[in-house]
Amino acid sequence: MSLAAESPSPSSPSSSSDFAALLDAELELTSTADSVSVGDPSASAASNDEECGYEEEEEDDVVVAAGEEDTLSCIKRRRVENQHQDRGTAMRPDDDAIGSSKDVQIEVCPPHPGFFGGLCFRCGKRQDEEDVPGVAFGYIHKGLRLGASEIDRIRGADLKNLLRERKLVLILDLDHTLINSTKLFDLSNAEIELGIQSAASKDVPDRNLFTLDTMQMLTKLRPFVRNFLIEASNMFEMYIYTMGDKAYAIEIAKLLDPDNVYFGSKVISNSDCTQQHQKGLDVVLGAESVAVILDDTEYVWQKHKENLILMERYHYFASSCRQFGFGVRSLSESMQDERENDGALATILDVLRRLHRIFFDSVIKRVRQEVLEGCKLVFTRVFPLHHRPQDQMLWKMAEQLGAVCCTDVDSTVTHVIALDLGTEKARWAVKNNKFLVHPRWIEAANFRWHRQQEDDFPVAPPREKSKENSASTKEKGKENVADAASTKKKGKETAASAKENGKENAADAARAKERSKENADDDAGAKEKGKENADDDAGAGAKEKGKENAADAASKKERSKENADDAANTKKAKKIADNGVNANKIGTSDAAASGATGS
Ligand SMILES: [Mg+2]
Ligand SMILES: [Zn+2]
Repeated sequence: MSLAAESPSPSSPSSSSDFAALLDAELELTSTADSVSVGDPSASAASNDEECGYEEEEEDDVVVAAGEEDTLSCIKRRRVENQHQDRGTAMRPDDDAIGSSKDVQIEVCPPHPGFFGGLCFRCGKRQDEEDVPGVAFGYIHKGLRLGASEIDRIRGADLKNLLRERKLVLILDLDHTLINSTKLFDLSNAEIELGIQSAASKDVPDRNLFTLDTMQMLTKLRPFVRNFLIEASNMFEMYIYTMGDKAYAIEIAKLLDPDNVYFGSKVISNSDCTQQHQKGLDVVLGAESVAVILDDTEYVWQKHKENLILMERYHYFASSCRQFGFGVRSLSESMQDERENDGALATILDVLRRLHRIFFDSVIKRVRQEVLEGCKLVFTRVFPLHHRPQDQMLWKMAEQLGAVCCTDVDSTVTHVIALDLGTEKARWAVKNNKFLVHPRWIEAANFRWHRQQEDDFPVAPPREKSKENSASTKEKGKENVADAASTKKKGKETAASAKENGKENAADAARAKERSKENADDDAGAKEKGKENADDDAGAGAKEKGKENAADAASKKERSKENADDAANTKKAKKIADNGVNANKIGTSDAAASGATGS
């Protein structure tokens, strides 16, 4: 059963799918900018996984050759990426220097981001003896070394993808956590008499006792482990991390994951550790901030105790009991076992479910609160009379998005929300250079997890536009000229005019352009809300409309640029996007989770 995936959103399906589409568009751009090399080493690792994992040391040459090929394709792909990014940044008129400089830095070597088969996978330069950077990721691919900044970058991109899938990272120990193994020569007389060895070699369905022939060992899977892996894989990206050696780890991974759906190359063994007798998250490409460790041994996780959930040890075989000083009969000897439904793994699965739910609940709440942070709103004639505004949906929505809502205007108010211009508070907003927006501005922020540009949500004049327009705007001319100046400050923001209008007017736009030359020329002016009014001294309503349309046409273009911009500006986009998608799913998933925990 999947907790997160296949659940339709319980409320407002259309808006959630709009949101999902928007999110996908943003993520598409973000991930192309981000995952330049994330995909590369791990993708090559995935395809070469078989050879890599099971290969003997002698075959080094072959691997290096394969590595070089990968390096080339990696560099090629990287170039394509950079072209893509260049186009993206070149399109933008007023470039955000911070966002783009990050992308440009990707090109520079040294420092080398990492080495593959002894060659830098960016510039192809051979690795110097004294210049051994970062950490070896031999379990992903032999000969892969990554520098610190590259690791950070990969972790960042990986985190984004994970959270988007509503997943965290789970590191699983093997011995005494998921399984118990014994050497054949360590079997007790009782075990031998009970015929445990022949039981292990019987190929029956759903068996949990296995012989590892090449290693002269028996392995017993802990009860519930198969269900545990199915369920946990819906909430976590999973790694095996054992102090056993590589061959053993791979054999056990095959038992636990015969179809290779859970772990892939993510099987870490003692040869991957960077410190003796210690396990470290330094060799895990998942972000530490979202990593949960399940292990029966606390000692090996000195540096990551906060991430550790200590497991009750699973002793099945007699040798295991002896090793830990228990003089009792082992489970195997007494032909017993932990129970499936309330044994250690079932219990810990519940803990993981709670942890997963709480993590995403709190993250989503926090991210939602950031959307309209710093906005102080006053509503004017938006709500029905004689109703408490605090009870209104829009008011509550704005508060959930982090805005402060109040009933009276003062200098700290930033936005007045109105349906038309004809109220005192609306006029106050215009006069005091406050944002005056349509209530849809709040709804849009709610759907898009992003504060929307205020100019995209203008408030209509009180009566029919075409007749009243020139007279009324003429009167307001002076105010609006001043307003125009202030709007100019908002620069780029103002460039994009209403997306909604943009859709309707897309077809009109070309016609409108022809009709009014000013609009074509007026590129700076077209950005400004106040402009239309200033121009209207000369103007008819039709002209104004044409101008709006032309601006809309331009704005569509600008909008896509801005999206690219946002995408490059990963931090912000990432947060919103990642968590947004999760929010989309949270309702049902919680229901499932709480149902499962019986709360
Ligand atoms: Mg262990
Ligand atoms: Zn390099």
